[in-house]
Amino acid sequence: MAKVLCVLYDDPVDGYPTSYARGEIPAIERYHNGQTTPTPEGIDFTPGELLGSVSGELGLRRFLEEGGHTFVVTSDKEGPDSVLDRELPDADVVISQPFWPAYMTAERIAKAPQLKLIVTAGIGSDHTDLKAAIEHGITVAEVTYSNSISVSEHVVMMILALVRNYIPSYQWVVKGGWNIADCVARSYDIEGMQVGTVAAGRIGSAVLRRLKPFEVGLHYTDRHRLPEETERELGVTFHPDVESMVAVCDVVTINAPLHPETEHLFDEALIGKMKRGAYIVNTARGKICDRDAIARALESGQLAGYAGDVWYPQPAPEDHPWRSMPHHGMTPHVSGSSLSAQARYAAGTREILECWFDGRPIREEYLIADGGRLAGAGAHAYSVDAAAGSSDKPAT
Ligand code: NDP
Repeated sequence: MAKVLCVLYDDPVDGYPTSYARGEIPAIERYHNGQTTPTPEGIDFTPGELLGSVSGELGLRRFLEEGGHTFVVTSDKEGPDSVLDRELPDADVVISQPFWPAYMTAERIAKAPQLKLIVTAGIGSDHTDLKAAIEHGITVAEVTYSNSISVSEHVVMMILALVRNYIPSYQWVVKGGWNIADCVARSYDIEGMQVGTVAAGRIGSAVLRRLKPFEVGLHYTDRHRLPEETERELGVTFHPDVESMVAVCDVVTINAPLHPETEHLFDEALIGKMKRGAYIVNTARGKICDRDAIARALESGQLAGYAGDVWYPQPAPEDHPWRSMPHHGMTPHVSGSSLSAQARYAAGTREILECWFDGRPIREEYLIADGGRLAGAGAHAYSVDAAAGSSDKPAT
């Protein structure tokens, strides 16, 4: 029997919800590339419930306890006396979400001799030191595609919010004002603008597909080109490098993984090559942007706006400059944790655990590391040295 240690974000400040804004969520069976949504043998939750917080327990308690396993759920994850650190030494499985990551550093992995499986309920395993996980023969899995569309919708929302100056206009209403000139003095249409994505993987290409009807010029840069027919269908222009793309864009959205090539990619030099008054939306990883260079560019007017939901570290400290810099539209790390996404990644986590306990193979597309090497989706997206060097863990 296994001990499963699950790190989830806190419940709402007013307590775990007893009712919801909507009665149901749409049932999605397949993603754009044909991959099926998670197919566990069963679920013990109602899709649309809050599953990602401590009391939601990813809907796993009944399944795990009926299987005779021990299930520990906590939000307490930082510092040597945290519940995570205290429970880790005899844990077999660790589960967390990128929104509230259990940073599985080499030190933590060394302190968990029984650990065999690390699951990301969601996408992005850069909070796990993959090199250390591989050295210890630990399987790492995530629920690929479960929240890619959720993130792409957040990107489109943030682009519109920045360009149209939505948040300050909303604030005038809340303050009791009717200050039309104050609202519109920074408000534009995106129609006719040039919008580029750094990476056109699942999220980046979903952003392109969603933006096409806005009649903007679409651009992308990636390590691999999209199929010619996709480029034609989307009317998107490929750029061989990020410098040439940002030079022509009014809006840049970042949708690449964090690795040494992308860490601090958007520094003072690259931001200096962007059009004056450009916007950046980054929902990929906070460390892809140089924190202080972004704040300075907003203050100088080189950037007209910056939005995203990824920070470094997470949770962001109260004095993080991205909380107070001008013209930002930041949210906490929420884009991939809508109730719709939670239903999918909770079901995907259940599917991974069912396979693991039954000794059945985990879907290739969910695997990041397995059998002492990168595997499945991880073999494509990560490299072992990169994983160790750039993991998005907090400064110690
Ligand atoms: P995919 O793996 O589908 O796509 C990533 C793309 O980035 C691939 O096409 C990859 O190319 C490309 N790429 C890698 N390095 C570079 C580079 N240096 N320059 C340009 N392109 C590059 O990932 P997703 O679209 O699903 O997710 C992207 C990222 O978004 C994740 O890595 C994660 O960090 C973040 N994310 C954020 C979430 C949130 O809640 N905010 C939720 C989910 C993901 P290649 O094929 O050659 O490797």
